[in-house]
Amino acid sequence: MQICVVGTGYVGLVAGTCLADMGHNVVCVDKDADKVALLRGGGVPIYEPGLEHLVHRNTREGRLSFTTDGATAVDNAEVAYIAVGTPSADDGSADLGGVLAVARMIGEAMTSRTTVIIKSTVPVGTADKVRAILEETAKHPYDVVSNPEFLKEGAAIDDFMKPDRIVVGFQHAETRPVVDRLYAPLVRSGKPILYMDNRSAEMSKYASNAFLATRISFINELALLCEKVNADVDAVRRGAGSDSRIGLRFFFPGAGYGGSCFPKDVKALMFTAEQANFPLKILTAVEAVNEQQKTVMASKVLKRFGGDLTGKHFALWGLAFKPQTDDMREAPAVVVAKTLLEAGATITAYDPEAMPESRSHYLGETIGYAESPAEALDGADALILMTEWNEFRTVDWDAMRERLKRPVVFDGRNIYDPSTVRAAGIEYYCIGRP
Ligand code: NAD
Repeated sequence: MQICVVGTGYVGLVAGTCLADMGHNVVCVDKDADKVALLRGGGVPIYEPGLEHLVHRNTREGRLSFTTDGATAVDNAEVAYIAVGTPSADDGSADLGGVLAVARMIGEAMTSRTTVIIKSTVPVGTADKVRAILEETAKHPYDVVSNPEFLKEGAAIDDFMKPDRIVVGFQHAETRPVVDRLYAPLVRSGKPILYMDNRSAEMSKYASNAFLATRISFINELALLCEKVNADVDAVRRGAGSDSRIGLRFFFPGAGYGGSCFPKDVKALMFTAEQANFPLKILTAVEAVNEQQKTVMASKVLKRFGGDLTGKHFALWGLAFKPQTDDMREAPAVVVAKTLLEAGATITAYDPEAMPESRSHYLGETIGYAESPAEALDGADALILMTEWNEFRTVDWDAMRERLKRPVVFDGRNIYDPSTVRAAGIEYYCIGRP
């Protein structure tokens, strides 16, 4: 099928590349000319395991190309995806400026029947808004499909290629066979395409992210209670999560959720609920707990070293909001770094992928960057671990003690065994474990 994907970010680039790998002809569009030039030159602007190889192969084999020219890409495309960002506006609502601008461009540029698929995460009612724009602009038949994306950064290729389900909101009967053909290679393993109305599909995405955020805030709040009552949250999560109704996955305490999705999607769903005069009490608490949780590691450091950190130096392992990505949007590491810098500390960080992102968009040169995890430790008063990259999991504690000025470790992801670390002569702080 001839496909165009507008918005070549984490979702658009992964979706476009995977669709090309499934045999479709895909043109990826982005308004960012530098990004398009980089992709055309063989570069890949984001870190996502396995992506570069697939981009190269499909480009080489002629199924994948990149352009800034949306109108030409839409011309003759049977399917046009909208995969641009939907960031939080000041009032917490999802900013639909990009989505609606792209809808208008598609409407004006289409030259035959086109299935317009909204991949971006958008609030209930957006498909209706897109339809209204196409009603005004399109000279050919169309349908608007709400097809939210559930991929996880760091495992995006696998998630796209082997989805648990594909949610498809639609209106016209002609659309189903188009979507069936489009995704046929993905559902051979028996995973379903769930057809429904547009509004329910839009809501499904928010329901998923809001529920996952709720699990995290729930276990995070319990972890803090465990600290107060001297229980071990790790044992508690196993004790409770082993119930098959609850489950152990996605049930780890940590330094708060971040990333480009949970914070903004929770806010957007709360906004939708307020507009409907039905404020969501649970999500209000989920968000408040998360804001508090992002400050927990910095509070532990301040408690240990006193409020004034002038002259103190810290090693920071991990900047990305989670492992296997260079994405630092809403990363708890940024909150921790800024709090410690404000208190007078200096910081040297190491992250296997996110340091360029930190330099250009987040912490700049307010902190130092090391070439290796070990180098970051040199002369530091403590190590603070904020992202659970695999390479941080196995540690030579003797070597660490040698490099640190003081043998103190703050583990914001509970990846070390407290008794092992303490047996190595290291003062150890974690979350919710005695
Ligand atoms: P992103 O910021 O990485 O990428 C968006 C891209 O769209 C950028 O490259 C930007 O230049 C481009 N763009 C914006 N306006 C444009 C326009 N008018 N024409 C052409 N290009 C334009 O965003 P993302 O992380 O890929 O997220 C996209 C959507 O997918 C969001 O709604 C997000 O909530 C949703 N989503 C993201 C993830 C994730 O893990 N990142 C997962 C599921 C869903």
